[in-house]
Amino acid sequence: MKNETMMQYFEWYLPADGLLWKRVSAQADKLKAAGITTLWLPPAYKGMNGKKDVGYGVYDIYDLGEFDQKGSVETKYGNREDYLKAVKTLQRKGIRFLCDIVLNHMMGADGLERVMAVKTAENNRQQMLNASEEISAWTVFDFPGRNGKYSGFTWNKSHFSGSDWDESKQSKGLYLFEGKCWNHDTDDEKGNYDYLMGADLDMDNEEVREQLQEWGSWYENTVHMDGFRLDAVKHISADFYKDWLNNLRKQTGKDLFAVGEYWHTDLTHLTKYLDEVDQEMSLFDVPLHFNFFNASRQQGTYDMRGLISNSLLSVNAKHAVTFVDNHDTQPGQALQTFVESWFKPIAYAMILLWDGGIPCVFYGDYYGIPSRNIAPVLELPRLIKIRELYAYGRQESYFDHDNVVGFVRRGDDEHENSGLAVLMSDGAGGVKKMLIGRKMAGMQLYDVTGDCSEPVTIDHKGYGDFRVEGGSVSVWVRREAYEYLETMV
Ligand code: CA
Repeated sequence: MKNETMMQYFEWYLPADGLLWKRVSAQADKLKAAGITTLWLPPAYKGMNGKKDVGYGVYDIYDLGEFDQKGSVETKYGNREDYLKAVKTLQRKGIRFLCDIVLNHMMGADGLERVMAVKTAENNRQQMLNASEEISAWTVFDFPGRNGKYSGFTWNKSHFSGSDWDESKQSKGLYLFEGKCWNHDTDDEKGNYDYLMGADLDMDNEEVREQLQEWGSWYENTVHMDGFRLDAVKHISADFYKDWLNNLRKQTGKDLFAVGEYWHTDLTHLTKYLDEVDQEMSLFDVPLHFNFFNASRQQGTYDMRGLISNSLLSVNAKHAVTFVDNHDTQPGQALQTFVESWFKPIAYAMILLWDGGIPCVFYGDYYGIPSRNIAPVLELPRLIKIRELYAYGRQESYFDHDNVVGFVRRGDDEHENSGLAVLMSDGAGGVKKMLIGRKMAGMQLYDVTGDCSEPVTIDHKGYGDFRVEGGSVSVWVRREAYEYLETMV
């Protein structure tokens, strides 16, 4: 068994050239050889901005780049044929494919409807600001460009809880439709965080649930995905996704891995949600991302003992997908909590070499972000390879100093030359005695980063005095492993 490594195969500012699906097919061999086992691709269906839509402004969930809607047949990433081919190519190479689905909202409606609604306060959605009034809302989705192919279902105001625009008065506001309430089992930020944007799907509506279940079956039957990345789950009824995933798994007989995006810095919100969905999915470890971000901003004054404290990784590693950055945290995007470049190798060593969680590598870190002059993280290919080949065996951690912390993996018999030691510092460099096990007594370990040129000799009790330079990470491996890694370009 090899370690699993996920990759998010897009960043926000990829060119809208309709070529991503083709590039995925072309790169599949390279990704496999690099040690990537699972690929997360962006939303494949048509968004309100057509070819310019990154994929989160959902218009038609049945249009995978097949119909002339929103100004083009293809999406930002290509057409349906190229998409299906990319998925097939990945799977043939043994790479699992996760599709990104966005079921919270729809945008770019085909028509308006009159609907009675009340305005609710932006920062307390339980608070009504005025009496019910008639507004004109964009809630009719009948997809004339698709003309009923795959599904005759059309959407109207009965399927949504609210929206943020009254066309008749040209007025912005958070409108809750009459007879509706915000779904109660969503995040409690702002009183209730059911509403995020666009026309908000009402998950208490039976027709909505049935339609999304039907669509899920159609999508699985069309694409044959291995699992999902679920967008914006904190804005969606927890009960909905629990049922949806369960039903789809039962129906298909497949495991269908799922990882949800629950964007909250407070761990308790994530653990509460995981309980609500009966641990049926994993979540991105958002609190851990913020630890990395904060550490990178503090330029050496962060207490490294707490690097993984209050993270999902530390309390429920089985359901944690760890990551350093993503398409929302990159510069220019809404959240903009991009981990500073000097800290990236430390953060990636942490998630890739640690025993626990599934690490997810960001496209923008692997390839760089040319539109923002952001260079690739040069250490990444090597760290991914070290994870694939050598990050095995029992783990001991040494989070016992405010600057210099580390951990070891003792290696196991199944993976040749496995075992390693990781030492990192956000401040001054240092030395730490760590136990890597008697099995390695007398061996010399080498720092693959090249920062420390002298090898470390393991003593007869299995200890080594490992070193790290200031503001960096050193990864120590056996000589055979070191020599193999040196052959990587
Ligand atoms: Ca919602």
